[in-house]
Parts: sequence; C-alpha cells; structure tokens
Amino acid sequence: MAFHGSARPAVCGNLFPASDLGPKYFCVNSSGSTAACSGLNGAQKPLGPGQPAEAPRHPATVGASTGGGAAVPQPHSSPASEVPCPAEMEPDRPIGYGAFGVVWSVTDPRDGRKVALKKMPNVFQNLVSCKRVFRELRMLCFFKHDNVLSALDILQPPQIDCFEEIYVITELMQSDLHKVIVSPQPLTTDHIKVFLYQILRGLKYLHSAGILHRDIKPGNLLVNSNCLLKICDFGLARVEEPDSSRHMTQEVVTQYYRAPEVLMGSRHYGSAIDIWSVGCIFAELLGRRILFQAQSPIQQLDLITDLLGTPPLSAMASACEGARAHILRGPHKPPSLSVLYMLSDGATHEAVHLLCRMLVFDPAKRISGSDALSHPYLDEGRLRYHTCMCKCCYSVPSGRVYTRDFEPAAERPFSHSYEESMLSVWQGKELIHRFITEHQQGKRVPLCINPQSAAFKSFIRSTAWHSSKVSRKEER
Ligand SMILES: [Zn+2]
Repeated sequence: MAFHGSARPAVCGNLFPASDLGPKYFCVNSSGSTAACSGLNGAQKPLGPGQPAEAPRHPATVGASTGGGAAVPQPHSSPASEVPCPAEMEPDRPIGYGAFGVVWSVTDPRDGRKVALKKMPNVFQNLVSCKRVFRELRMLCFFKHDNVLSALDILQPPQIDCFEEIYVITELMQSDLHKVIVSPQPLTTDHIKVFLYQILRGLKYLHSAGILHRDIKPGNLLVNSNCLLKICDFGLARVEEPDSSRHMTQEVVTQYYRAPEVLMGSRHYGSAIDIWSVGCIFAELLGRRILFQAQSPIQQLDLITDLLGTPPLSAMASACEGARAHILRGPHKPPSLSVLYMLSDGATHEAVHLLCRMLVFDPAKRISGSDALSHPYLDEGRLRYHTCMCKCCYSVPSGRVYTRDFEPAAERPFSHSYEESMLSVWQGKELIHRFITEHQQGKRVPLCINPQSAAFKSFIRSTAWHSSKVSRKEER
C-alpha cells in the first residue's frame, strides 16, 4: 500500500461536536451540569466542585469519606493519590443494552477516567447461560485490537456463595453507527470509507481468531467523534465450527442484517455471515436507510432476491427444504443491482463493485474480510486511518512512520476448549470466579461493588426490566 502524497486528513476532525452528542445520548441527569456532556475522551476534565453533593454516584466509586460509596479498593491497596475526591464523581448513566447485558457510563475512581460498565446478568441460571457469559468474558479479555472493544478490567467478585453477576469495564465510546446514520450529521464519502475500513479491519482480526460475531449491526459498532470505530457486543459470538455436520443455532443476527444462508435455515455457516451484515451496513451508510427492511424472515429473503435475483440451486446447497421450495415456487427474478447506484452520490462504480462482492447470495462466493480490505475503495480509508487515527503508526519530524502490518490478524486462535470441561452451573461458577480472580492478580487496584450503596441499588433497579427480557429471550 503506497502512502505517497499528502492526504487531506478531513476525517481526522470531529464527525460530530461532542457538545451535540452528549446531551442527546448521555445526559439523563438533572444536575444541569454541561461538563458531564462535553465529550467523554480521556482528556476530559472531571466535574468540578459545582457538582451537587447528593448526585448519585458510581457503584465503583471510593467510599472512604462518605461511608456510602459503592465500591472500595481492597484494604491492602490504594495509595491516597489514586483516590479521587468525591466531588469529581459523575452520575451514573445507562448508555445501552446489548444482546445480553446492560451498559452504564461510569467514572473509574482510580484515575477519574470515564469508562463503560457492563453488567452481565443471569449468569448462573443454567449451564447454557453460564457457558455463554464465560465465553464473552474470555473473549473480552482476549481481544487486543483497536477496532474491537475489549475489557479494561473486571470488578472483583464477592465470595463465591454470593457471586451472581459479573461487571466488566470497557473503554467508553461516544456513540454508535446507528445513532450516526439516523442523525442529521452529514456523512461524507470520507466518513464512509474510514468507517468501513475499520469495521473490516476489526472483523479480519476476529475471523483470524476463529470468532464469528453473529450480530454485526450499526448499533454494535461504537464510534467516537474522531471517527474511531470499535466492534462491540459479543453476547452472540462463538468460535467457528469446523465440523459442518454439527448444527449451529439460527437464532442469530438482527433480521435486517441476517445473511441469506441463515434465513434459509442452513444448519452450518461461517464468517461469511458477518460479511453479509457489513454489506448491508455499507449500503445503509451510503443510502442512510436500512437496505433490506422487512417485517418477517420470509419477506427479508424476498427483498434480498428482489435485488440479487433468484439464486441458482448451487447457492442454496445448505438451505432447508422449505426455504428452497419457497424460492423455487416464486417467479424467476432477474438481478437489479443497478439500483445500488441510486443509494447516493457516494455510490460510485468502485463502491458498488465492493458492495456487490459482499452482498453475494452464495456464502462460498462472498468476499472475505481480508480480501475486502484489498479492494481499492478502501485505500483512502486505510490512508486516513493510519495517518492520524491509529495507534500502530507514529509521526516524527520528517514524516509519518507506518506500521508493517496495517490490518493485523490475531496472534493465535481463541480457544474454547475449557467449555467442554464445564459440566454444571456450580462448576461453571467456580471456573468463572477463578478466572476473574486470576485475571486481576498483579494488576491495578481491584474494584468491587458494595451492594448496600444507593448508587448500586439504583443501577440494579434500572436494569431489572431488561434482565427479565433477556431471560425470556434466552429461554426460546
Ligand atoms: Zn497505523
């Protein structure tokens, strides 16, 4: 990849002013403070003494001076300099709900940094949820990639007898691609290219680790105002299944972004399902509306064949009988891919060419994440990302020093062999408890939750309704 010439770093500036973003997406407190909304980057100043003393506090805040704090560092730990003054704490705010879990914006009491706190509920309901949560937790701790959200920390679990929930701390991002797409913010071709580049860069890493995300959608692509993007929510992620005779669940991927092989009841699928979702998102970025917005899975399939035409039998090899019969019963449809040029002015020949390589009915013929990254449409996105957004390249007085590997693969595959040894909920509980405890050893001052604190009770109340919804979903 050549990096000659001087690129105009237009995308390196703000996509949206932080002051616009904050109140819309984060501010649910009534303190009237705008400081809490004025950007959530690491450089942000903590709230000053103007913050009302009675403002609700974060479960992980230090309670030494008030006695009511939610979380305390372990007694042997924290030097005084690490304990921020209570006035610096900001109110808790729910910021989103994943496939399984609730996310809050909180302040890390050790350094005043704003982070996201995710509660993973219903962990020990049954063996299936136990395995699912442990998998997500291990993945979050495994990831080391700038376009994939990872765990910064896990809150200290209580004694195993009282251990019911898991709290993970991740980096806090300002918004997500869904909110950006439906907002009035202008989205230029430069934005689309740099977003698509990062989605594929993150996916290449996940797929190289053998992980299928299985719920790629705009709401699971977190973005900052500087256009940095991270893939999140691994509640439905799993390791690729090499044995094609083993059945995989079809209860995956939000319907609008669901690949045709899943809609057609294929019992085995691979990383191509994530690429299909990326194709749908690419079209949505261009047209600013959902590409295939159907009321039901069957209508979803009909909308896809309206665009791509009736697939050949060879493309439906893994489909279930009923789905194949549905396609063959219908009228023969010719492809109408030229409508993709009408998505927007940004739908150039190059853009549509790449889009058509992602929106391929037959998963075996769909482009891979790593091949998509070689498409010329993404050259500018790569240049912009590595010119001023990445952490892998750096500037010296004579110019920019670029990394050798722009799109790194995972160093090793993600291992899930531990799942086979998990035979009961109690055993799972012990494994998870040990994993968290060992994960924290030798690291920073551990944080834990005081379940008696008012802030924690308010956090639990606000998440209760969602937890019950999640349990119902999981039972299906
Ligand atoms: Zn770089």
